Amino acid sequence: MTEDSSQRKCSDTKDVAIIGGSIVGCAVLHRLQASNLSCFLLEKNGNLVSGASSGNSGIRHCGYDTEVDTLESSCIMAAGPLADRFYQVSKVPYVACGAVMVAWNHEQLEKLNVYLEKARAANQMDVCTLTRSELLHIEPNLSQDALGGLYIPGEGIIDPWLTGVGLAHMARSKGAQVFTSSEVVSGYQDDDGIWNLVTPTKIHKAKLVINAGGLYGDVVETINNSEPKFKIHPRKGDYAIFSKEARPLIKNIILPVPTETTKGIIIFPTVHGNVMVGPTAEEVEERDVSQATPSPVVVDSLVQWAHRTVPALKQVAVVGSYCGIRPATQFKDYQIQLHKERNWLTVGGIRSTGATACMGIAQHVHKLISQQMEDNPGTFNSNGIKNNTNEFESLNWKKMDEGKVVIDDMSYTVTHPITKFGLFHET
Ligand SMILES: Cc1cc2nc3c(=O)[nH]c(=O)nc-3n(C[C@H](O)[C@H](O)[C@H](O)COP(=O)(O)OP(=O)(O)OC[C@H]3O[C@@H](n4cnc5c(N)ncnc54)[C@H](O)[C@@H]3O)c2cc1C
Repeated sequence: MTEDSSQRKCSDTKDVAIIGGSIVGCAVLHRLQASNLSCFLLEKNGNLVSGASSGNSGIRHCGYDTEVDTLESSCIMAAGPLADRFYQVSKVPYVACGAVMVAWNHEQLEKLNVYLEKARAANQMDVCTLTRSELLHIEPNLSQDALGGLYIPGEGIIDPWLTGVGLAHMARSKGAQVFTSSEVVSGYQDDDGIWNLVTPTKIHKAKLVINAGGLYGDVVETINNSEPKFKIHPRKGDYAIFSKEARPLIKNIILPVPTETTKGIIIFPTVHGNVMVGPTAEEVEERDVSQATPSPVVVDSLVQWAHRTVPALKQVAVVGSYCGIRPATQFKDYQIQLHKERNWLTVGGIRSTGATACMGIAQHVHKLISQQMEDNPGTFNSNGIKNNTNEFESLNWKKMDEGKVVIDDMSYTVTHPITKFGLFHET
């Protein structure tokens, strides 16, 4: 331990502590609490869903383009049926709008087959090519310059903020504790192997710790006294926001054909009726999303791209902009690893699909902990870990004034621009 913590109060020992209260931490909290473990979550910021998770596109991917045999692809696939049930039961907004990948030149037209093959390999059999006239039929406001496309019906849009907060709220209603404004500054295992996590006001005790620190995942990793196996390379993405008048102009998510280096700029509707264009991909030093701002020059170029792609958008006002920062690492795949000897589980490098895969990631975490409990009988709770995947509830949520949403009688501050613009702006 690096500082004097003798004056801080200690909590009762729980089974699992989760460091990080954004989309991954919230999904893991929900899954483990529903499985009979006693859990708590420590979030350094004042509100949940404030890291990388507060600046994404809110797209629920079907996994048509992920590399097969990766952890990312298996978590996306595992998330599919769980998320279907979650959105159905919880009433968190989700629209299965589908996507079109558009070729603007002959080279791109040929490359569509690569993505068709990828989709087949990922078992997304409903992905199909579109002739120019089929494409313009299903996306009628697209520029006439389009040459053809790929139809990806499994892509959809979600409320990415309410997904995370909703999962945390469900976990709370099952007894989980959530502590915001609780940065874990250090930690140590005592003689009984219990983790003591030191926050500015309290020491929190747990038998196992999960690092869901996202953009600070490598920093949190040092609490485990080990050299982090990955380094976060923050990657910023800027967006422009069109007013809700744009919504009828777009039927699907409109994707470009990706290049070797980027998936490119997309135009997409949100579940609350705006249309967004973005994100860019820029390597940056800054990790703190609250300190990052979109570049006006970049936002302007995004708007120009949207105008070229869907000319009718020229008639619609741009009402805002935002940016997010991806927790990319030197690796493409997720970095999920159980340090068995130390009861520490790293869930890091969830770069660009975490909003989609969070419930699949939570299932993978559940599997690793089940194994750890089996290998170490008596270390965790005596009732064992349930394998319950069907524990979602209807969320009684309503928007309040001043950027807040109330679920049951609990108030949450909205941190994500998709939800903020969608719920609190008329246009
Ligand atoms: C521009 C962009 C577009 C994206 N588009 C999509 C998309 O369309 N669909 C999709 O599925 N995914 C998308 N993603 C990816 C997705 O947003 C991420 O995979 C996901 O947000 C990662 O979540 P996380 O919980 O791991 O990390 P984070 O959101 O970074 O959360 C980590 C949390 O840990 C907290 N924390 C850190 N250190 C400490 C500490 N010491 N003590 C306590 N708390 C701590 C932080 O405050 C934060 O709340 C996009 C991301 C970006 C940036």
